[in-house]
Amino acid sequence: MIGNQSNWAGNYTYSAARLHRPETVEQVQELIIRRSKLKALGTRHSFNGIADSPEDLISLEQFDQVMALDRERRTVTVNAGVRYGPLCRHLYREGYALHNLASLPHISVAGACATATHGSGDRNGNLATAVSAMEIVTADGEVSVLSREQHGEQFHGAVIGLGGLGVVTRLTLDIVLTFDMRQDVYENLPLAQLEDHFDDIVSSAYSVSLFTDWRSARFNQVWFKRRVTDGASSELEPELFEATLATSHRHPIAGLSAVNCTEQMGIPGPWHERLPHFRMDYTPSSGEELQTEYFVPRQHAFAAFHAIDRLREHVAPLLQISEVRTIAADNLWMSPCYKQACVSIHFTWKKNWPAVRKLLPMIEQQLASLNARPHWGKLFTMPPTRLQSLYAKLPDFQQLLRYYDPQGKFRNAFLDKYIFGAP
Ligand SMILES: Cc1cc2nc3c(=O)[nH]c(=O)nc-3n(C[C@H](O)[C@H](O)[C@H](O)COP(=O)(O)OP(=O)(O)OC[C@H]3O[C@@H](n4cnc5c(N)ncnc54)[C@H](O)[C@@H]3O)c2cc1C
Repeated sequence: MIGNQSNWAGNYTYSAARLHRPETVEQVQELIIRRSKLKALGTRHSFNGIADSPEDLISLEQFDQVMALDRERRTVTVNAGVRYGPLCRHLYREGYALHNLASLPHISVAGACATATHGSGDRNGNLATAVSAMEIVTADGEVSVLSREQHGEQFHGAVIGLGGLGVVTRLTLDIVLTFDMRQDVYENLPLAQLEDHFDDIVSSAYSVSLFTDWRSARFNQVWFKRRVTDGASSELEPELFEATLATSHRHPIAGLSAVNCTEQMGIPGPWHERLPHFRMDYTPSSGEELQTEYFVPRQHAFAAFHAIDRLREHVAPLLQISEVRTIAADNLWMSPCYKQACVSIHFTWKKNWPAVRKLLPMIEQQLASLNARPHWGKLFTMPPTRLQSLYAKLPDFQQLLRYYDPQGKFRNAFLDKYIFGAP
């Protein structure tokens, strides 16, 4: 293993023998030609073995430049090791924005897109939906460029590639004009209100997150992130579906200081300082958590909340916090939101894997009738056959991987198990 190196949370130790840090595309090509098993490693924020390789890992951390902004086409091209934090600052300075962000800005763009990482918002697809082109070094060492314009369905298969197509060296992303946002928090929303008003609540802002500790039948907090538009009223109702407007800044976990959270209380600010929950300049302490997330079709949102609520006694003691978000439908084959708008239920667990591992099958069973799909980069226990049955485009994705990587150079235990179904 690479000097006992582990992922961000420290719950997974990579088994690869070597970690390479190439500085040029030519060096990436050379490594790929010379090695028989390898895989790209991003910023190590996944909680499972998806980024591992039995032999060699390639980190693109030296590929950290934003390459070009195309104002006419409204795109930005970045080297694949770029993290969202620096990219957002660059775009903001130039008067542009990304359509959405995940909860923290420290992850790499390539790693996030490879696993369908997402933020929230009824009209916002996951972060990979912004990819319009990608440069990738494939198993034979050749550099290929795939684009939405030219490669149609193949492109839709390649974007959420789970690291299986090769090493992505460059990405082009759609951008929009910069915008300001405000963030407001309401507290103590009864679960029962979501039966009739879930759509009203999540559609009422650009991005909405609901947080609960599942200790009672209520959501502790609802975070509304709204675009600030000229002339829009800044006055908010003190009460919303029985939830009350918070009177000071809040951390999603009750009792923790909000000092590291992005500004709330309706204070306007730039998009990249409101879309994530945590400040860009705050480095989260590595480690003391595990994460799981399931996506269910949007129309089953309340049934899914009810299903988890039935397990409240089991869930609450192991939980730090749970977050509900909405994600728009997309066309990307391996997206949990392929052709269906979804609601996601995320769990930040205390770091007690033996107990969490026992609980996950119970949650998966509760959500099975709703066709819940797990997040590719988080922890789950669903059997591979079940997972495979949930992806209509899986056979096409298998074929795509075989086409780009006939010898299985970029295959690892995770892909063998969940994509190719090895026992
Ligand atoms: C604190 C924390 C908060 C998080 N918040 C969110 C959230 O809000 N929303 C959400 O959806 N997820 C969230 N995640 C999950 C996270 O976004 C995903 O696990 C994501 O894949 C991590 O990106 P990474 O760069 O660390 O990739 P890694 O974990 O290093 O790798 C993930 C995958 O990407 C592939 N990959 C990486 N770089 C390349 C490349 N250059 N070419 C080809 N393949 C590549 C790897 O091979 C692997 O398959 C969070 C995780 C943590 C730890």
